Amino acid sequence: MKKSLGQNFLGDTNILRKIIDIAPKDLPVLEIGTGSGILTKGLAEAMTLPIISYEIDRSTFEEAANHLALFNHVQIIHADFLGVDIPFLEPFVVIANIPYYITSPIVEKCLANPWVRGIYIMVQKEIAYRMAAKLGEKDYSSFSVFCQTRAVVQKCFPVSRHCFFPPPRVDSTFVKLIPTTLWTNQIHDIEIYDKIVHSAFWGKRKTISSCLSRSPYLALGSVKAKAILDASGINSQLRGEKLSVQDYLNIANTLVEFNVP
Ligand code: SAH
Repeated sequence: MKKSLGQNFLGDTNILRKIIDIAPKDLPVLEIGTGSGILTKGLAEAMTLPIISYEIDRSTFEEAANHLALFNHVQIIHADFLGVDIPFLEPFVVIANIPYYITSPIVEKCLANPWVRGIYIMVQKEIAYRMAAKLGEKDYSSFSVFCQTRAVVQKCFPVSRHCFFPPPRVDSTFVKLIPTTLWTNQIHDIEIYDKIVHSAFWGKRKTISSCLSRSPYLALGSVKAKAILDASGINSQLRGEKLSVQDYLNIANTLVEFNVP
């Protein structure tokens, strides 16, 4: 087992059954981190549409590929998922017990793909709380805003660390993200939007006004920051954790309009 690759294999058949039950079977599946192939096999037996699974570790990949060779609709690929182009040019879903050390890059990459219709993944419990936290809750963070701008996030069920081999040091939660264009359709410039959100949470205990004027992502300067917040109808003394997706949308679109010559 390679700890550095986040190799904690699922060993609990109850949890496996719960994941298979929740997973849609009417869309092709992308899996990240085949491991021993326990989830891949469970899915392969439950559906007939293509399953493409990435495994970065050569020996793990070889074992899984041998083990699953009889399933014609399953393709195991030896690659770093973060380095590949997502192969589907049609609606698909992600179903995976992913390596935790790259949770956010995986979620960001999947949410950026226009064909993804659902992301069903196992994540560290604390990350699940952050993804799903609503405005006013203590786990509300830039990752909450990032995820909820692009998807409806739902915590499905908790998973104890003892369901894995070897057990990781943290407990897990299985989460479901269903992409939505509710917000993204209204954002004029998503890069600016993301920079504003990052800036807002960059300075803990700093006001939104000082975050926007001084963060390394944006550095608007205090005059422009104040003008933009006033024009968006946002109290410049609030902290980032007090602002909603709608508030961030207003700020981002106002900034884009201000920059129009
Ligand atoms: N899904 C399996 C394995 C989970 S462990 C199960 O439920 O049992 C996570 C797996 O992801 C490990 O096998 C690890 O080698 C693999 N992995 C880690 N980083 C990866 C990456 N960047 N791309 C693809 N696979 C990766």
